Amino acid sequence: NEHLDVTKAVAIVENIKEIIDANKEFLTKLDSAIGDADHGINMSRGFTKALEKVRNNQYNDIGAVFKDVAMTLMSTVGGAAGPLYGTFFMRASMKLAGQKEADLTLLAQAFREGLQGVVALGKAQLGDKTMVDALTPAIEALEAAAKQGLPLKEGLKRALDMAEKGMKDTIPLVARKGRASYLGERSAGHQDPGATSSYLILKAICEALGV
Ligand code: ADP
Ligand code: MG
Ligand code: MG
Repeated sequence: NEHLDVTKAVAIVENIKEIIDANKEFLTKLDSAIGDADHGINMSRGFTKALEKVRNNQYNDIGAVFKDVAMTLMSTVGGAAGPLYGTFFMRASMKLAGQKEADLTLLAQAFREGLQGVVALGKAQLGDKTMVDALTPAIEALEAAAKQGLPLKEGLKRALDMAEKGMKDTIPLVARKGRASYLGERSAGHQDPGATSSYLILKAICEALGV
């Protein structure tokens, strides 16, 4: 049964940087429809800096990797998403502090704490057309899989499927948080950029763990 370890945590950061860069224009296009056309640029800048930081360090535990990601996102990414993802990784890193390995149960707990941090900061509820709509069903799937005693990879695979569904389900929604909410009803019919980046981040995590 595979675990997340420090090497894989670093690979996660590499994969996130790569997948965000590959989807930079796409994320910016989504944000141009209902926001200010900077989500791809913000995310790419943040994860480029995060990877630089992580590559230049040695780590003894998984928490420390995600803590560096969190601090970098908070300090380099402006707008809504920087502090929100920064908080996600910070809260997750606190749960993973001192851990050399994480199994599905611990990873689900860490991501649950991360999501709670996002909700505490951004006050978005499910259905408000934000990253919360992709993260919530994904983390619920992780928790359900952990409860069933499934392997880490299987849990992540299910979480990715649910994140994708949550992302697509944002299309008809009317935004109630963030810039897109300024559009009111006109925000309907567009996929949320932040829900999309959350799906991509989870996809990168899956790939780093061989899912
Ligand atoms: P900005 O809107 O400040 O330009 P970004 O474009 O980088 O920031 O990020 C926009 C994304 O942030 C949205 O698509 C949405 O998913 C997410 N977001 C915005 N406000 C909130 C919030 N209050 N709670 C959760 N997510 C939010
Ligand atoms: Mg924006
Ligand atoms: Mg902006």
